[in-house]
Amino acid sequence: MHSLSKRRVKIVCTLGPASSTMAQISGLIEAGLDVARLNFSHGTHEYHAGVIKVIREAAKNAGKHIAIMQDLQGPKLRAGKLGKDGMDLIEGDVLLLYPEGSTPTLSLSGRKAVPISAEIALSISTDVQVGARILFDDGKISTIVKQVKPPEMVVEVDVGGKLTDHKGMNLPGTPLSMACLTEKDLLDLKFGLDHGVDAMALSFVRNVKDIEDIKQRLRAVSNDPPIIVAKIEREEAIDNPDLIIESADALMVARGDMAVEIGAQRVPIVQKQLIHACNELGVPIITATQMLESMISAPTPTRAEASDVANAVFDGTDAVMLSAESASGKYPRVTVETMSRIIVEAERAKETYSKHRDSHPLPGSIVDAIESSAALIARQTGAVAIACLTHSGTAARTLAKHRPDTPIVAIMDNEVTLRRLAFAWGVRGILIPKLVGTDDIFTMVEGVLKTNGWADNDDLIVITAGVPTLRRGTTNMVKVHRIGSTRL
Ligand code: PEP
Repeated sequence: MHSLSKRRVKIVCTLGPASSTMAQISGLIEAGLDVARLNFSHGTHEYHAGVIKVIREAAKNAGKHIAIMQDLQGPKLRAGKLGKDGMDLIEGDVLLLYPEGSTPTLSLSGRKAVPISAEIALSISTDVQVGARILFDDGKISTIVKQVKPPEMVVEVDVGGKLTDHKGMNLPGTPLSMACLTEKDLLDLKFGLDHGVDAMALSFVRNVKDIEDIKQRLRAVSNDPPIIVAKIEREEAIDNPDLIIESADALMVARGDMAVEIGAQRVPIVQKQLIHACNELGVPIITATQMLESMISAPTPTRAEASDVANAVFDGTDAVMLSAESASGKYPRVTVETMSRIIVEAERAKETYSKHRDSHPLPGSIVDAIESSAALIARQTGAVAIACLTHSGTAARTLAKHRPDTPIVAIMDNEVTLRRLAFAWGVRGILIPKLVGTDDIFTMVEGVLKTNGWADNDDLIVITAGVPTLRRGTTNMVKVHRIGSTRL
């Protein structure tokens, strides 16, 4: 059996200084990377263009269909420049927040002046109310708003710490009016399109309008735009995820900012809720951030981290993600190998520990009826693979929704679409020259599965396809087939 069939949950690796050369990226692909994430909060276009080239070449050398996800920074709130020593803040300190580069108009008497990025100062000072909380540096420093005079704000420190240059800011509980796409994001988006990224991750999504907005912008300039991954981290999105899930192509449980926005104690519950909601609709979901955090500087994970990865598998996640572990850590390849081992082990025990409920087919959906039946038939017949002939990838994603024990092999003739399946649980792809016009699809499927090591003579396989035309959206057939034989 093909070695890839062992692991169903996919691995997303953020690439960075520790993982940008051909040797490093090839090593990560060998270790199990399925999706390469480029974080556009860092790096120049020139740098990212170089890495994209290396990923495509390394994937080609390895014969794998690796997806590239461009993660747009979004309206990340940041403090400005504070000088080389930063600023020590203690409880009771009063700060004047003002747009970087301007001269504060409010009195500085008894207050410390803290610049914040000019483009956000006006917007957040218009949204925020006296009594609201403003956090700095991943929530480590906490302040309460005492006075607002846009674009300036006066806040009092209630949890101190050392504030240094460009630290992130969060305003938990304050709905922000700032658009999801900043001017920088729009430039980055054009770069992503020009360089053929497979997916774009949208940060700080508030509601379905944010998803519709980016999709509309992309459709205006591209016939086949990248898929959109909605990063769920804001309270507004967490409280009303349903329309976002229906509209996005995939979700990310962005636990980093989420923990600061809603408190770390709520993150495990929100993770389960989002995964469950996505599983119901067959929308791929990535669980992200600090999964193997200690491996940034150590070659083995903590017990808690191993449990975190395994529990995400039990929850039903489609993919798990590494951030600094693979981007700037000391052991990127070892971390991916470790993650892969934890997933495989958890998947062996999933039957016992997973609460995954059987997903019901959507009423009226032929493809869902076919794929849910294929999952059941494969289990009952002991088939070694379900070969899913698909144009858009919908049939394979729909089959994945039913979480069959049997490996899912998507057979497609479009490499771009095939790469997008890298996000979907359990789907492995084989690229063929042409799907339409094949005289005997069963002979073709047999040959393809045998050549790629998924099946041998006499094995049973299950095939789903659209016949006779194999046009887009026509999945209407399920067949049980014995390899190399006319008998069943
Ligand atoms: C997160 O906040 O968890 C996340 C994945 O986003 P970023 O790395 O862009 O902060």
